[in-house]
Amino acid sequence: MPKNKTPDSFDVAVVGGGPAGRIAALTCAHAGYATVLLAPPAPKADGRTTALWEKSIELLQSLGVWDKLEDRSAPLRKMRMVDDTDRLIRAPEVIFDCSEIGLDCFGFNIINDDLNSALEERCAEIDTLTVVPSSLARAEFSDREARLETETGDRFSARLVIAADGRNSLVRDLAGIEVKRWQYPQVAVVLNLEHSLPHRDISTEFHSPTGPFTLVPLPGRRASLVCVETEQGASRLVSMTDEDLAVELERRAHSVLGKFKVISKPQKFPLSGMTAKRLVGERVALIAETAHVFPPIGAQGLNLSMRDISDLAAVLASAKVRQQDIGSQPVLQHYENKRKSDVRERTNAVDVLNRSLLTDFLPVQFARSTGMYLAGRFGPFRRFLMREGLAPKTGIRFPR
Ligand SMILES: Cc1cc2nc3c(=O)[nH]c(=O)nc-3n(C[C@H](O)[C@H](O)[C@H](O)COP(=O)(O)OP(=O)(O)OC[C@H]3O[C@@H](n4cnc5c(N)ncnc54)[C@H](O)[C@@H]3O)c2cc1C
Repeated sequence: MPKNKTPDSFDVAVVGGGPAGRIAALTCAHAGYATVLLAPPAPKADGRTTALWEKSIELLQSLGVWDKLEDRSAPLRKMRMVDDTDRLIRAPEVIFDCSEIGLDCFGFNIINDDLNSALEERCAEIDTLTVVPSSLARAEFSDREARLETETGDRFSARLVIAADGRNSLVRDLAGIEVKRWQYPQVAVVLNLEHSLPHRDISTEFHSPTGPFTLVPLPGRRASLVCVETEQGASRLVSMTDEDLAVELERRAHSVLGKFKVISKPQKFPLSGMTAKRLVGERVALIAETAHVFPPIGAQGLNLSMRDISDLAAVLASAKVRQQDIGSQPVLQHYENKRKSDVRERTNAVDVLNRSLLTDFLPVQFARSTGMYLAGRFGPFRRFLMREGLAPKTGIRFPR
């Protein structure tokens, strides 16, 4: 049960104990808000990895989480993009190097289980944060407060509810916020590998006709793979023996990392997209996958979610200065105004990049190849793309 001195009344209730929910809860608790996190235990281990960029790492540092992860994460210093489409119009290879934009690394690749356990550990250390390990069952929202009830019968009220309960969010439904959903004809096959050659902190993305095939460094001679395939192609890959799969993947990687050994069970993730039509409802702010879902291309998903959290924290801080109610409509409107263009632009950029690989339409292939050619040839454009890839509106600083 809650350890807060007013156990049934909180400033903020965060619903969902995935990475976004835990980071949001830590952020609010660090800002001094009495916070409750509803986090049912995760059903299974998550061997996937997440690449987090500079600003996301800074947020983890400020929350006291990064110290627990640094030794277990791999820095990403270069990103190589290779057109492997075999189409009439092919783009030249491009290498993005973090030193060109004055960084020691773009970010780090982290195993999700490590990230989740570091966040869980940190959540247990903060006095202003109460973690309730059960699911939300019901909620009511009024202009005065939100009232929540868990599946185990615990009841709370909060001035603000942060919905982080994932793509099928109950909070979002109860708040009456509609969504737009769409599907892609692709499935991501995800697994981790050992390889015989060093990766030298370089992540390599082959653009294949079914989607990206991306190898991202892990500590040592290990890498995580996201291979975007057709449904049929993905089923074929996951039905192979580990030995045959290793040979097939090495062939697709053109042996850039030498021989492969599969070290985790391949998992399939059908690609889909979703955006919420509003980012706020009465006493409710949507963050992360309750608000936006898109394919795992360019490592954008959780990084975008962490910008939701940083912006929400900034909005709450300014509400505090103005002595406003943190769950009131003007404060929530401020949050929505601050977030909507970043969410829309990232969702569209990932969608366009993905569809440009699938199409046989020559003008689109030409546009994509030209973009990669310009990125390879022109430093200012390349640096602009690097900065925009890490965070929006930071790319406009060129030339250096
Ligand atoms: C293959 C793959 C690779 C990816 N790689 C990257 C990457 O490199 N970089 C990047 O930035 N992003 C990446 N992403 C995206 C990233 O993984 C997601 O954005 C992130 O995991 C979503 O976290 P979340 O907390 O929003 O949602 P979730 O992890 O889905 O968490 C939602 C939580 O809510 C809980 N919940 C559900 N219902 C209730 C309820 N009623 N009450 C209470 N709790 C509830 C669930 O138990 C769950 O714990 C990748 C995604 C995939 C699929």
